[in-house]
Amino acid sequence: MKIPDYDAVVVGAGPAGSIAARFLAEKGVKTLVVDKKQEIGTPKRCAEGINLGGLEKIGIKPDPRWVTSEITGSTIHSPGGGKVVCKFSKGYVLERKIFEKHLAMDAIRAGARYMVKTRAIEAIKEGDKVTGIRAEFMGEEFTINSKLVIAADGVDSKIARSAGINTTNKMTDYHSGFQYEMAGLNLEGHDMLHLYFGNEIAPKGYVWIFPKGKDVANVGIGILASQSEEGNRARDYLDRFIESHPETFGNSSPIEINTGGIPVSSSVDTFVMDGFMIVGDAAHQVNPIHGGGMAIAMKAAKLCAEVGAQAIKEGNVSKERLYEYEKTWRETEGVKLQKLFKLRIFLEKLNDNDFEKFADILSEEDIIKLTNAEYKSLFKTFARKAPKILPLALKFLSG
Ligand SMILES: Cc1cc2nc3c(=O)[nH]c(=O)nc-3n(C[C@H](O)[C@H](O)[C@H](O)COP(=O)(O)OP(=O)(O)OC[C@H]3O[C@@H](n4cnc5c(N)ncnc54)[C@H](O)[C@@H]3O)c2cc1C
Repeated sequence: MKIPDYDAVVVGAGPAGSIAARFLAEKGVKTLVVDKKQEIGTPKRCAEGINLGGLEKIGIKPDPRWVTSEITGSTIHSPGGGKVVCKFSKGYVLERKIFEKHLAMDAIRAGARYMVKTRAIEAIKEGDKVTGIRAEFMGEEFTINSKLVIAADGVDSKIARSAGINTTNKMTDYHSGFQYEMAGLNLEGHDMLHLYFGNEIAPKGYVWIFPKGKDVANVGIGILASQSEEGNRARDYLDRFIESHPETFGNSSPIEINTGGIPVSSSVDTFVMDGFMIVGDAAHQVNPIHGGGMAIAMKAAKLCAEVGAQAIKEGNVSKERLYEYEKTWRETEGVKLQKLFKLRIFLEKLNDNDFEKFADILSEEDIIKLTNAEYKSLFKTFARKAPKILPLALKFLSG
């Protein structure tokens, strides 16, 4: 198969890849996206939750074709059965298979080309510079030459590794996710996301119920991969959770199973090489607290594409030129993700009793501050109401 040369090849048509492709194409960059899936968006590996701000930041308006439910907040369930209700600005549970197709359609309308069922095998290099990819479609292998390659191929990016960037996740910084999409549920509060914590429920992780309507929801779990062992894998914990809540799940059945890994630390050393950039899960650009990555991936993809397009226009796709993307990211969103990473480590140190106390003393505003990585005022709350937790909080959250 003979493929023409491109200015930019994007590997992966997830949220990161299709947003990067759209912004590249809008800037007049001749762009090709390849995805190994035969149908974009399917199967999904996601609980499909996103907040309105995450969509608005890249100019996407919520669309009834891919919004299944509107969400007004989340209920945090403590190990002992306590609840903290947090109302935040609007959010949604999507039908991600359709959402991803629409992102691709928008990129195509902007001028990008797509090839599905096309697997990128490896990056092609001349010395240290990436000059294209080797790919395969229906058993046929071929080369695609390109000034710039963007790896948006998700967790454990193979393309980045073949180019020379280590994207491997450590088992202690990697959540193992397992989820059923279920129908026939008896849901309490289907405009809220429900998060369940506790060592017996989900060690160093949580169980979620993300409603997709009155009686349909994504019911899933993420636990640290290092906690997973025979009989106590993510799926075992989730099955036990479902069995122990007959009032919710008694008449329900799964209509889908979804599994996947979630990077919960920003541990990739570099995002750029000569002629090469990585973005989204591939670059571990994920919220380390809840594992949400769609909004972050799309925000990073916009920045990545803007810098990439300008570099192509200038005829300089060197690592030094492309570093503008990495520098801007690390100095803005990266700072927040590093702070949230510390919060994740702090939360992992709490036992169930500490967690109970923690949930007891924190107000809705405190929780919103925590999720925004604003910790200062919380030290006062800990000092007054939970002095036992204060040293741990100071150790992990100050500075
Ligand atoms: C169980 C679970 C629940 C989650 N829930 C949420 C949630 O509720 N909200 C949220 O925001 N995030 C959630 N996430 C995280 C979210 O799914 C990711 O952060 C997001 O998909 C990252 O987007 P991406 O485009 O970087 O990667 P992906 O969406 O993973 O896209 C990568 C694409 O690359 C393609 N690809 C891979 N290798 C190749 C190759 N060699 N050649 C060609 N194509 C290739 C894949 O087919 C895929 O289409 C969840 C993750 C899991 C596992």
